[in-house]
Amino acid sequence: MAKTTQLLCGPVYIPPRILESMFKDSFSHRSQQYETVHSNIVHALQQLFGTKENVYIVTGSGTTSMEMAITNCFSEGDSVIVPITGNFASQFAAMCEAFGLNVDRVQFDLGETADPQRILTHIQDNTKGVLITHNESSTGVYNSLVELGLALKDTSVLLITDSVSGIGGLEMKMDDWGVDVVIAASQKCLMSPAGLSFISFSQKAKERSKQSNLRKYYLNLQDYESFQSKNQTPRTPAIYTALAVQESLNMILEEGIDNVLQRHKSNSIALISGLQDLGIGLFAKDINFCSPTLTCVYCSGNAVSYVNALAEKNILVSGGLKPINKDTFRIGTMGYVHIDDIHLVLNALESIKRTLN
Ligand SMILES: *Cc1c(COP(=O)(O)O)cnc(C)c1O
Repeated sequence: MAKTTQLLCGPVYIPPRILESMFKDSFSHRSQQYETVHSNIVHALQQLFGTKENVYIVTGSGTTSMEMAITNCFSEGDSVIVPITGNFASQFAAMCEAFGLNVDRVQFDLGETADPQRILTHIQDNTKGVLITHNESSTGVYNSLVELGLALKDTSVLLITDSVSGIGGLEMKMDDWGVDVVIAASQKCLMSPAGLSFISFSQKAKERSKQSNLRKYYLNLQDYESFQSKNQTPRTPAIYTALAVQESLNMILEEGIDNVLQRHKSNSIALISGLQDLGIGLFAKDINFCSPTLTCVYCSGNAVSYVNALAEKNILVSGGLKPINKDTFRIGTMGYVHIDDIHLVLNALESIKRTLN
């Protein structure tokens, strides 16, 4: 069987070393063995998040921690701002509404980065939070957080970010930037199976959570907090995914966080400049805000043909997301991706482009 190259946007390729780390006898989540895994994950993630705060391990995909952020930080009828930059931002807004929040959607053109100044003009006296997608996986564009963090730091507005497709590939400095809640998940840049998400709260967010009146049970922050001191979770976590994440974080720390971030950046830059040389379009409007973890390719009407033609050459990429699913597809550079993989996909695209034109 020919070797397949996976350049996906999640779940991503899982390196053999990580797969092998899961090959263990079953053990209890109340054992010392689990507590060590838990503690290793928390300490490594604190470095990736750029925080001294606790990072909680939540069983469920990324959306679970997004729900935990909303239900612990807000109360019925609270006003929040959600900059709409694509599919995942729209989902965050819809989730807020499902929990009875009042959502001001700040609409950006698809492919555009969210201008912090425009977001700040929407802040009103009763605004309780800004919920922003750090790395918009549907358009391949990231949003800068530092200006928002600095502007909101000494206000009562919480800055909450979905960095599910960012953490591990896109820089995060939660404490320095003044971000109040950061969310990540196992199956993106952390190169692991789905099943775990990760969330950290600033002191300001923790204070706010004491007033929150939204209904919650499984995702109650107070429960996670009381078990965290024992390096445990309130309920049974996805233990095998935890083993994988522990190993992935070992790999990231061995390579060095800065080197890992730099590799994501240089791979995506090589991919983008290769696409430009081939005359293949980018969906992102501003090259300075292209995501380092995935590139959204614009190919009017031809997206499915490209994805299928690449699959025939044993290169797997991700399709586009609505409403741009017919015109775009996405090449993941998240996780275990080497520059040779970038050259491989560019060579394949060169010949595919000739046959499609
Ligand atoms: C993958 C992803 C999510 C979460 O999806 P899950 O399937 O719940 O893990 C959320 N936001 C972004 C930006 C993503 O890329």
